[in-house]
Amino acid sequence: MLTGMQIAVIGGDARQLEIIRKLTELEARLSLIGFEQLDHAFTGAVKEKIDEVDFTKIDAIILPVAGTNLEGQIETIFSNEKVILSEEILKKTPKHCTIYSGISNEYLNDLVVNTGRTLIQLFSRDDVAIYNSIPTVEGTIMMAIQHTDFTIHGSNVTILGLGRCGMSIARAFHALGAKVKVGARKSEHLARITEMGLAPFHLSEIEMEVIDADIVINTIPQLIINEGVIAKLPPHTLIIDIASKPGGTDFRYAEKRGIKALLAPSLPGIVAPKTAGQILADVLTQLLEELKNIRKENAK
Ligand code: NAP
Repeated sequence: MLTGMQIAVIGGDARQLEIIRKLTELEARLSLIGFEQLDHAFTGAVKEKIDEVDFTKIDAIILPVAGTNLEGQIETIFSNEKVILSEEILKKTPKHCTIYSGISNEYLNDLVVNTGRTLIQLFSRDDVAIYNSIPTVEGTIMMAIQHTDFTIHGSNVTILGLGRCGMSIARAFHALGAKVKVGARKSEHLARITEMGLAPFHLSEIEMEVIDADIVINTIPQLIINEGVIAKLPPHTLIIDIASKPGGTDFRYAEKRGIKALLAPSLPGIVAPKTAGQILADVLTQLLEELKNIRKENAK
């Protein structure tokens, strides 16, 4: 149980509703910031504006998966108000106050260093990232179907990166009958791709390898689909870039060449917010129980 814990949930999409549901069931007290337009009410949770919250009593802050933008602004689909997590706010919190986010960026990293608070990135945990790859795969398949006029079965699908998402995506497209190639830079990844019955290639060969691609799916959060690569793609190729913003594609050059390139963020939140929210809620519960024990020890 999370009885006695005061938690601020700031912004986000429908995934946060599962988190709110679970934490209130466990008797945590929640301040919901950026949820004015949410019709639903939860026992134990109050909707507040960020300047109305007493941050001196907040044990934990839960941010959306994307965290903040580079100016500290937090995206929320349930409010039109601009919500910013500032140094000034964070400094008011007790020292043990912990911030939970899916991923981080320079702004959030600097914020926690300057305020001496702890940031936990949920997606740096393998378990969370692997569970989350399941709805991500389903979203990627949805985008491939929506944006092509040919079947996945029999088409040439090139996947870039064999991380947690890359591996799940490669397996699913292979199972759907696509001819799957996967590009990676580590020899152990190339070995794994071979073991999976797929065609491996080293990323240094990418320009040669994409010449027959019908669909390219990027999972690498670095500019990998650059001008040189785009210039080699057939005109009908669809690029689905799932890497975190700004993605790994030169979108401007793709547009100039008339190649359809889609940045596809937050797929789990779009295709399966309930499942994706439950994945996060389960791990957050575990982490907040640990935080509660630390708080108890500190109080002794
Ligand atoms: P991951 O396990 O860390 O995999 C990232 C892959 O990128 C690895 O194969 C890694 O290879 C490769 N990589 C990283 N930097 C590289 C570079 N400079 N050159 C070549 N390869 C490089 O991450 P993940 O969990 O699969 O997630 C992949 C991306 O998708 C992340 O940006 C994540 O935020 C995003 N994501 C998006 C959604 C969505 O809905 N759009 C959902 C989940 C995740 P090495 O091992 O060689 O470094």
